[in-house]
Amino acid sequence: MTEDTTDKNMLNLRYRALLFPRANYKLLLVLCFFSALSLSLCRLSHCSSLQGDSERYKKLRYKMVDRQIFARGIGDEKVLQAMRDVPRHLFVPENHRSSAYGDFPLPIGYGQTISQPYIVAFMTELLRPEKDDVVFEVGTGSGYQAAVLSKIVKKVYTTEIIPPLGNAAEKRLKEAEYNNITVKVGDGYYGWEEYAPFDCIIVTAASDHIPPPLIKQLKNGGKMAIPVGHPFQVQHLMVVEKSEEGEIQIRNILPVRFVPLRRKWK
Ligand code: SAH
Repeated sequence: MTEDTTDKNMLNLRYRALLFPRANYKLLLVLCFFSALSLSLCRLSHCSSLQGDSERYKKLRYKMVDRQIFARGIGDEKVLQAMRDVPRHLFVPENHRSSAYGDFPLPIGYGQTISQPYIVAFMTELLRPEKDDVVFEVGTGSGYQAAVLSKIVKKVYTTEIIPPLGNAAEKRLKEAEYNNITVKVGDGYYGWEEYAPFDCIIVTAASDHIPPPLIKQLKNGGKMAIPVGHPFQVQHLMVVEKSEEGEIQIRNILPVRFVPLRRKWK
């Protein structure tokens, strides 16, 4: 072995020693690249599955508006758009989400129901709400009717007599950033004196009479929609109109079925 070959061997070894960590470094780089790639692919697929989910609900919602609402004569574009905009599936219990856009009411717990989409749209249109209006609702329930109204008017005040329902609706509306809705737990029979008078009042539970405090808290020129009748009997959806002079006119619109307006919880 010449000195020259020994030197070459030494050099080879040194190179290998140098190369080995470099190979490691390269390997690390390759690994990093692939894990970043798989992470972003995973994110992308998760994201697209979420988007697909809401796209699916959006399609169902638009179909609901066309077939159940527009087709039955609701023509107010503001109402139709609000019904397209509010994700109804977020207002029903998770085990009912797949039926959220069906043509029927759904249970929301505590023996209460979220009204059929058509009834929500029909009552909203009856009020002829305008963008500067302040609305009072009796019967927050899931918060859905309040959310639909909030897309059209300036402010919605809503009351719910069952505390867990009212609290859950308040949280849901806050998380979804419906910032022009205020929820209160209490008996809506008495209205909400502090913010009265209201341009529109909507009662989403049936009462055997029209609560006098609500008539009082209706603005001159305002409208109230309220189902009137006894539970388990035919009820009638009524519209109460207060003229600019303060005269009351009541019209019977159509037979309906609502949960009863109660005066206390438990
Ligand atoms: N508007 C609701 C549906 C409500 S069902 C929605 O969009 O989901 C009727 C609701 O009225 C029930 O939640 C019931 O608890 C509530 N309610 C009944 N009597 C009430 C009263 N006196 N004051 C306030 N809420 C009342």
